[in-house]
Amino acid sequence: MTIPGPIDPPARLLMGPGPISAYPSVLRAMSAPLVGQYDPFMTAAMAETQELYRQVWATHNDATLLVDGTSRAGIEAAIVSLVRPGDRVLVPVFGRFGHLLAEIAERALAEVHTIETDWGQVFPPSVIEEAIVRVKPTLLALVQGDTSTTMNQPLDEIGEICARHGVLFYTDATASLAGNAFEADAWGVDAATAGLQKCLGGPSGSSPITLSEKAVGVIRSRAKVEAGIREAGDTDAEDFVRSNYFDLGMILDYWGPRRLNHHTEATSMLYAARECARVLLTEGREAVIARHELAGRAMLAGAQGLGMTVFGDVAHKMSNVLAVEIPDGVPGDAARQALLTDFGIEIGTSFGPLHGRVWRIGTMGYNARKDAVLTTLVALEAVLRRFGVAVPAGGGVDAASDIYSEAV
Ligand SMILES: *Cc1c(COP(=O)(O)O)cnc(C)c1O
Repeated sequence: MTIPGPIDPPARLLMGPGPISAYPSVLRAMSAPLVGQYDPFMTAAMAETQELYRQVWATHNDATLLVDGTSRAGIEAAIVSLVRPGDRVLVPVFGRFGHLLAEIAERALAEVHTIETDWGQVFPPSVIEEAIVRVKPTLLALVQGDTSTTMNQPLDEIGEICARHGVLFYTDATASLAGNAFEADAWGVDAATAGLQKCLGGPSGSSPITLSEKAVGVIRSRAKVEAGIREAGDTDAEDFVRSNYFDLGMILDYWGPRRLNHHTEATSMLYAARECARVLLTEGREAVIARHELAGRAMLAGAQGLGMTVFGDVAHKMSNVLAVEIPDGVPGDAARQALLTDFGIEIGTSFGPLHGRVWRIGTMGYNARKDAVLTTLVALEAVLRRFGVAVPAGGGVDAASDIYSEAV
């Protein structure tokens, strides 16, 4: 074979539902030199990263760390470590990622119960509480922002409901964290996981996680009996965690004061995760959420200014991603392809019931920026016109610009 040249990606503006273009300083951080896993610099960087993410999650949880792997790694670690075989797990499903939580809980041998609502809607807290009373789960697993539908499930009352019924509360905040409000402690969240490639503005490959004392208690109680289980060879025992890599008991011991070796922390991803949080907190958590809110509102107004119809319950939409109906007669994939090849801009397709019906446009992290919003709208207008849609000239950019001028 001929040996390919060094990696040389094309210039792209990633305006889909993730991954997005990373903050330049995150890419620079990833090219920093490596150190050994027990180098004092490395352990200090791990401790700094934990402290930064306590602020990102708005928590005092000691157990705030990274799981190495994409967001799904964090989800799997949380579920396989918190759920014992036969435990009842309740998953309210309002999009694709709810189905993923249910699937992972099934693989962890839980008795999984789901409730569903239409795509484009969220659950009223009372509906979740009714299901909790009926199912009596040990764990509620609930997505916060589901990129498949763009909906943002309100969580502020859920923790109190779970605590009242003695249920652990886990949420997947991958798509929403840093672009929408999230308050781990104030909302009574027991476990939450995320990824870097959405509003945190990094590459995929590291999953921030935070665990309440109650969640850590469940994990520790399993770890205590586990040594005995291993000795007896009784790997059918319910306390036996069926994963080594995602066993949070072991991962906590690696990040904790004893630094017991488990995996080798992914050094370059740690640098990336640290830089994502550092960038966020330097700008300010509230300021970054406000920047996402503004960019999201401008993109929505711009899409409407182009005559497009927004999908779903706009009052419960995440700030950072918009679903718009593909105009009649436009071949969705060919138009997305034209945006990519002629303008270097990527927007997203859709899954399940929305496939072929909507495009998803993200304004996240580094790309929650006025120039990125306006450039995308210019390109979208040109492509829609080429595919025969009678778009109002300049309608998208004008409407989005108005939102930005009102905001100053
Ligand atoms: C994007 C997204 C993920 C992605 O998981 P990866 O393993 O990083 O691909 C998970 N959950 C939600 C809610 C998401 O929006």
